Amino acid sequence: MRNTEQSKAAFDEAKKYMPGGVNSPVRSFANVGGNPLFIARAEGARIYDIDGNEFIDYVGSWGPMIVGHAHPRVVSALQKAVMRGTSYGAPTILETELAKLVQTVYPSIEIIRMVNSGTEATMSALRLARGYTGRDKIVKFVGCYHGHSDSLLVSAGSGLATFGVPSSPGVTKGTAADTIAVPYNDEDAIRTVMEREGAQIAAVIIEPVAGNMGLVLPRQGYLSLLRELTEKHGALLIFDEVMCGFRASLGGAQAAYGIRPDLTCLGKIIGGGLPVAAYGGRHEIMSHISPAGPVYQAGTLSGNPLAMTAGIETLKIITAPPEEDGVDYSRMLTVRTKELLLGWQCAAKDAGVSICAHQAGSMFGIFFTDREVYNYEDAEAADQEAFRIWFETMLEEGIYLAPSQFETVFLSGAHTDADITRTIAAAEKGFAAVKKVCG
Ligand code: PLP
Repeated sequence: MRNTEQSKAAFDEAKKYMPGGVNSPVRSFANVGGNPLFIARAEGARIYDIDGNEFIDYVGSWGPMIVGHAHPRVVSALQKAVMRGTSYGAPTILETELAKLVQTVYPSIEIIRMVNSGTEATMSALRLARGYTGRDKIVKFVGCYHGHSDSLLVSAGSGLATFGVPSSPGVTKGTAADTIAVPYNDEDAIRTVMEREGAQIAAVIIEPVAGNMGLVLPRQGYLSLLRELTEKHGALLIFDEVMCGFRASLGGAQAAYGIRPDLTCLGKIIGGGLPVAAYGGRHEIMSHISPAGPVYQAGTLSGNPLAMTAGIETLKIITAPPEEDGVDYSRMLTVRTKELLLGWQCAAKDAGVSICAHQAGSMFGIFFTDREVYNYEDAEAADQEAFRIWFETMLEEGIYLAPSQFETVFLSGAHTDADITRTIAAAEKGFAAVKKVCG
């Protein structure tokens, strides 16, 4: 058994000062029970807790750490940057450099605005969509998470209601009423809503590869249907690629599925582990953002030089042409992820445990179910107890996974073949434990 005393004590102490002892809810391990690990440091694919336990990390800070933790190039660039000061509140050439790097792989982002979190990116993109179209309503999809701004903390009303209901106390009914939430991957539902209310809808926002209800992929033709319907009704199509950006493929879901959204939200990887996110898209739309246009949005630390530096170095590593250092980063991650997931699928089959497995580039995930998972309702129907047992066994075996079946697993360039072999061996024990308890 792992020693967990220090993490337990740290959690008890933290609870005296912070709500639930954490600064973001999923970190508290509420979905799987038990105490969260308190982390001392991380390097490459490894993360170490304050009790001295070592884990192979598949959380990667919830996605950003695509080149692994404390990558020497990122660390060195940051060390140099910090000596030049940590924030100026004035423009730097670093911002333009990061903007150019993003545009190389996301040609749909003609103009970009840097912000500090994914929440800020989606919230601002929606304000822009409303300001640009002069319409109030937005459409989101049940099970997609876009951060915690009020308009997006909304769940579906009953049936195909024309308005959403707050999914958190503190969100007003008035705000929620402007959001329509429809089931993911349901063609009829989105057609009906757009036919009925298209003229009032400013934007349809979607995780084009959904990573916040476990990993759920768009059905064939679904994203092109959204493109078609938004164009027909004069609404903007916003791809929230905060999570799947640079992961579903290097150019994100939009490159993988060949769809050009009007606006894109990015986050996580573009900050290389520091707080950066962004939204951007067509020049004509983005020119409505202040100071170029009337839609207001600002930030004291936006474009922060340290954060830009970490983002630039991370993007340089993952976008380097293969002939430069011999690695096609995105392809390498996709192949490795496939190997790992195949290993898990075989292990589950051998143990007699039914799982539904999904992969999108370097993102992957499993559901404990014998059915295909297309939407939130399907994900919710998967066996949560089986996941809890699997998670606990994996942790005991030194594998750090996201503590919820509604999250996604991330591979980094620092994971080695040996790590993958070890993770598959751990998975064999994990599935055997699930079989023993859940049958
Ligand atoms: N959008 C998506 C798809 C996300 O996965 C997240 C966070 O996980 C967000 C937005 C919110 O980003 P942040 O946590 O940086 O506010």
